Amino acid sequence: MDPLFANLNTAQCEAVRHVEGPMLVLAGPGSGKTRVVTHRIAHLLREGVSPREILALTFTNKASEEMKLRVDAMSPGSRVWVSTFHRFGARLLREYAGFVGLTPNFTIYDTDDSRQTLKRVIEAGKIRTAHYSPDRIASAISAAKNQLITAERYESRTGSPLSQIVAEVYPAYQARLLASSAVDFDDLLLHVANMLYQNNDVRAELDERYRFILVDEYQDTNRAQYVMLRAMSVDHPNLAATGDPDQSIYGWRGADIKNILQFESDFPQVKVVRLEQNYRSSKAVLRVADQLIRLNMRRKAKSLYTDNAEGDPVKLVQYGNQDDEARGVADQIAAGIAAGRRPRDFAVFYRVNALSRVLERGLREHGIPYQMIRGQEFYQRKEIKDVLAYCQLINNPRDDQAALRTINTPVRGIGRKTIDRLGEFAYVNGISLLEACREAVQVEGLNARAIKSVTQYAALIDRLSLLAGAALEEILGTILTETKYREGLQDSESEEDLNRLANIEELLTDARQFDEAHPGGGHLEEYLENAWLVNETDSWEAESDKVTMMTLHAAKGLEFPVVFVVAVEQGLLPHERSINDDEQLEEERRLAFVGITRAKEQLQLSYAVHRDFRGQRRRTVPSPFLLEMPREEMELVSIGTPGSWDVPTDWEDVHDLHDDSHHFEVDSDAADDSFEFGANADRNDEAGSSSPQPASVKAIPAAQITTAARLA
Ligand code: ATP
Ligand code: MG
Repeated sequence: MDPLFANLNTAQCEAVRHVEGPMLVLAGPGSGKTRVVTHRIAHLLREGVSPREILALTFTNKASEEMKLRVDAMSPGSRVWVSTFHRFGARLLREYAGFVGLTPNFTIYDTDDSRQTLKRVIEAGKIRTAHYSPDRIASAISAAKNQLITAERYESRTGSPLSQIVAEVYPAYQARLLASSAVDFDDLLLHVANMLYQNNDVRAELDERYRFILVDEYQDTNRAQYVMLRAMSVDHPNLAATGDPDQSIYGWRGADIKNILQFESDFPQVKVVRLEQNYRSSKAVLRVADQLIRLNMRRKAKSLYTDNAEGDPVKLVQYGNQDDEARGVADQIAAGIAAGRRPRDFAVFYRVNALSRVLERGLREHGIPYQMIRGQEFYQRKEIKDVLAYCQLINNPRDDQAALRTINTPVRGIGRKTIDRLGEFAYVNGISLLEACREAVQVEGLNARAIKSVTQYAALIDRLSLLAGAALEEILGTILTETKYREGLQDSESEEDLNRLANIEELLTDARQFDEAHPGGGHLEEYLENAWLVNETDSWEAESDKVTMMTLHAAKGLEFPVVFVVAVEQGLLPHERSINDDEQLEEERRLAFVGITRAKEQLQLSYAVHRDFRGQRRRTVPSPFLLEMPREEMELVSIGTPGSWDVPTDWEDVHDLHDDSHHFEVDSDAADDSFEFGANADRNDEAGSSSPQPASVKAIPAAQITTAARLA
């Protein structure tokens, strides 16, 4: 049998065979959507489509790498472009930088750099921000960008003080980014979408270039991504979207579930394929998942069955406190391993990263190897950012943020006042900060010593810039010695500095590996781009034999034989801030659904009666989602608690319980450190009042869901 179709069912084959025209593969978890995407690429190639005409997009580096591997296995050497939306955006922008006022060597600012830029703009413009934090303002700007509202078109809504402030800050922030030839994460999509929208020639060119576009996890596209995809699918409407509206979990980052729900009206001639067989989970797991997700109103009902075994009943465990929970989970993993499972068969999911610490301890006590997925941490470290800022400046001398970061790091006696004067001089003359440093003699109010230090700094950068085309390891090594950065750390006795030194060594190793993969030098920008666009899940090693610990958000698309979801508690899952908002509550239910449907054979959901969180011991309220599951067929266990089973049986009980307990106030940073990019619409919104809402959701007929204006 043809290997391309050997492991596909009839519906999957139908989707894989599809060549011309739009297609929507709408199907539940574990039904082979991702498999269809990779097989279809192989099929297109076999049909004679050129690899250059194919573009496959998804959301994480990990997912795109995985797809690339699969495609490569079926069509060796095909070099199809599989990418994340953000990488794709960056690539297009480098090609068409001039269209949006950037230079091709633009810098991509991470959340921290963007925030610093925003703060500088507010300070420089003496903009009064009332009590709104920079984070809050940044969220509002991010939300606007994801809605494709540019700085020029942003209008303050009357009566909203925040929007009035944003109306002032946003244009200034955007101007500052452009002056530095820099973009934030949202811009990678916004600029591209706008460019496509405004330049029909470019649009037509790219539509022609990428004749076949495939998107996995389409349910998580936001407005900007939607516009990009639509614009490139006018003359060649061969857009194939794969997704599951029930797994849309990035609303807070601007994902718009309407994009998938309305795909069919966007493309009237669309071919719709439904995959109904789940190959991943046991019957027991699937029934629990299905009963939960049915309670969402904003959805299209789907049927999903499996020929897999019934499997063990799903476990719902009540622990006395979080230590019991951590120990309980670790004990079971240890027992599972003793019985012949591998560590990598297990995964533990939680809503917020802050919950992982105690779990880690549990596994460590048992000596169980684990990998904790915590994202971008490495490249966020101060010393790494310091060193990379030099690289940034070499690559893009207009990058003021990088200049600010490096000008007095390591300390070279250039004070705040001097920097302010340089900044002002640069602003007035429309030049970069680095340029201003070169002309320090002309800057008013600088004494001879300051002029000397500043000029030396500029000369240092100019010297380093000569290295731009060298191998990465050489560039970094030279930066470290020329700036005396390494010396400074070596001379220090502090533990912290020793750690920093170790991290720097790791950076050098990283650079060496990069050089090996990119021989010949001249790849500085590519290296930086990899560092800028890291994802939370990048560090996850599917092959390594370790227990996986990650947030529910990060778990999307993955699968494990045994899954534990911990802290299924009111205020955590659903998250505090969603409790009074029906739409957000539905998203939390989808998040729980995503977690549950990662399990192949065994699933345990648990909560602790008492939890120490942010320094306080509190009595918890079990998640309302637990009430919505078919508990009569689940295995209920109570461990470490005197007394009996405590799960309330109806809403009256939840209210009673709630009266004598407190909700967690989950700090919003911890809550959302699962996001892959800085885009973070609304993540800082306050949760509002804390009274729980029954999980039943008002019925809203699908037709009543507002139809967004679509791109013609
Ligand atoms: P999710 O919604 O969680 O992303 P998905 O729909 O993308 O899931 P896949 O990850 O593609 O599903 O497939 C789920 C599992 O089922 C994988 O292990 C895959 O290899 C397996 N699978 C898919 N199709 C088949 C098939 N026809 N026969 C056997 N196994 C299959
Ligand atoms: Mg998938």
